[in-house]
Amino acid sequence: MRLGLAANRLHHHTEDAALFRWLRACEPGIRELQLGLHAVGRTYDAIAAAGMLRGHDVLKRYPYGRDGGLMKLVAEVVGMEGAERHLDGAIYLIDPVDPSSIFPEAIALKRQCVIHGKPFLSTVASARDWVEMERLHAGLPADRGADVFHALESQTLALIAHDAMKPQMIAFAGEHFDVLSRFAHRVATGTTGQRLNELAWSRGWPQDRPWAERYQSGPMGGDAQIADRVLERRCQRVIFFEDPHVARQHEADIQLLERAVTTVTDEAVCMTSPAVARRWCVAAELRKP
Ligand code: PGA
Repeated sequence: MRLGLAANRLHHHTEDAALFRWLRACEPGIRELQLGLHAVGRTYDAIAAAGMLRGHDVLKRYPYGRDGGLMKLVAEVVGMEGAERHLDGAIYLIDPVDPSSIFPEAIALKRQCVIHGKPFLSTVASARDWVEMERLHAGLPADRGADVFHALESQTLALIAHDAMKPQMIAFAGEHFDVLSRFAHRVATGTTGQRLNELAWSRGWPQDRPWAERYQSGPMGGDAQIADRVLERRCQRVIFFEDPHVARQHEADIQLLERAVTTVTDEAVCMTSPAVARRWCVAAELRKP
């Protein structure tokens, strides 16, 4: 497996920056999984200067951002000729107030991950959670340092799906109803929440209780309401099935929610593709005590 790797300046310029918090937590897992990392110039240089991932020969250096490093990662998420130039997803640790986080190549990196059903990991928590998920699928024992990502009974989950993705959201929730029901609380945007509640009631959930607390519909501000919960650390995981193939009148709200997640980078996990969300639910079953 191979992932692209980039971090905005804030996230690699001090010893306790996000990139290093992720590496300190996940370096053993990265080695166990023999995870290939294609790191853009400054991110690679910061890892080398910190003396991390020494001897990990599947860490490759890409050009600086200004020389097209991030653009090359986008092309590799889509897939280029040669096995070496195929990425299975990307870690891009975003500082929401760094202007480069909204450059076209940054937006395209996420969009192509979503289109191709690959993980786009924009927070420390998402990247840690992903490594643990892959470790579990590889048959490795649970890493106690990742317990927090499986303490579902004390956490809130947000579920959002754009119109074209609602059938996939309902199918996903139906398949993994038991795992999703383990969360202490679920929230959703208006229409998604209505469909999920109907599913839950049909599965025997008490008729007088909603399975998911409904906020406004996405275009009416539901994403912003859920973002506020994330910022207040009252929502630890967001499963957002975006439709990348249509122009979205509430694009700003969608971006706002994603940027809220990156604001609480150590605590909030965001999953943007049905394939990744399913894989995570299977891992949660494997890890259940
Ligand atoms: P909805 O909102 O669940 O109310 O449809 C989701 C969206 O379209 O953003």
